[in-house]
Amino acid sequence: MRRDTLDAVSPNVPADLASLELAQLEDFVESLGHRRFHARQIYRWIWQKGAADTAGMTDLPRDLRDTLAAQAAVRSPRVVRRDRSEDGTEKFVLRLQDGRQIESVFIPDTPSQTFCISTQVGCAMGCAFCLTGQMGLLRNLTAGEIAGQVRVLARELDMLQVPFNIVLMGMGEPLHNYDETMKALRMLADPIGLGLSPRRVTLSTVGLVPMLDRLSAEPLMPNLAVSLHATTEAQRAAIVPTTRKYSLHDILDACRRFPLAKRSRITFEYVLLQGVNDRAEDARRLARLLSGIKGKVNLIPLNATPGIPFDRPSDERIDQFARILAEKSIAVSVRKSRGRDIRAACGQLIVEGQGRRSPAQQLAEAL
Ligand code: SF4
Repeated sequence: MRRDTLDAVSPNVPADLASLELAQLEDFVESLGHRRFHARQIYRWIWQKGAADTAGMTDLPRDLRDTLAAQAAVRSPRVVRRDRSEDGTEKFVLRLQDGRQIESVFIPDTPSQTFCISTQVGCAMGCAFCLTGQMGLLRNLTAGEIAGQVRVLARELDMLQVPFNIVLMGMGEPLHNYDETMKALRMLADPIGLGLSPRRVTLSTVGLVPMLDRLSAEPLMPNLAVSLHATTEAQRAAIVPTTRKYSLHDILDACRRFPLAKRSRITFEYVLLQGVNDRAEDARRLARLLSGIKGKVNLIPLNATPGIPFDRPSDERIDQFARILAEKSIAVSVRKSRGRDIRAACGQLIVEGQGRRSPAQQLAEAL
């Protein structure tokens, strides 16, 4: 077996077939003494039909099924809670093998239906308006756990055969868990499985500059959303405190050199906090910062939540901010809040009782 397959398959633990890319699965099947093409059948069962174990993979030879039953498993995050908002948004609390819990959200907007997926348990970025940031980072998710959320939600919602979009905007900073996130996107994109086009995936980041540059060389390039939230270094340090290492100038330079497909643009996320970053001068400065970048701005009025020391600006203030950007020829939209009544909205994802570590300390260790 190749090195990457050996890394993914431990000799003492049943192999998790749902955490292997197709090529790794082919190596694994071959290592069991079977023909590589059976891996394609297994991959289809897992990713197209949502199989939760190998017992029902009826087109596999009996002896391969027996071997898989002894030496392999199909691990899936387990749904422990499902809450439905009055607007149709559904929040899923999922339990992982080690007992940790994460949240994933289904947003049923038409024409596109969207799964909002987590990439870490907690988050080290510590954004001041975000409950997930208050948890600190407990651990990275594996590629199987990231892609597994999609499989579980699609199965639960009977959407395995229905087109949907994915946003990596749940718990965690995807570029802080780079390798597993990219592996998950490759697993989801494989045409033998879900065949999810990268055009249907949006990766949201606070702007970890070296990782943005790395992302720009990926063969499978998702749409990019960059969370700015501020127009001065001091504001940014207060709102996204753990990313002081990268100035706004450095982040926007990385965006300027990011290779965009024809007709595509970078989305700049900007959470509006009353009296902090919502003034007319902030809007004018934001327009100046973005000048010359193929981008659009998504304004996110804060979802005021107990424990978060900010308020939502008034509707007049939000309109004024959007109008100033539009007058400066910046494409702008205001995000409609979804799932606020079930705490599934942006910045509200948290699973209580999982401990807490200091985000700043973790980021300093990690970068
Ligand atoms: S907003 Fe995103 S990056 Fe910031 S702390 Fe929350 S999950 Fe992390």
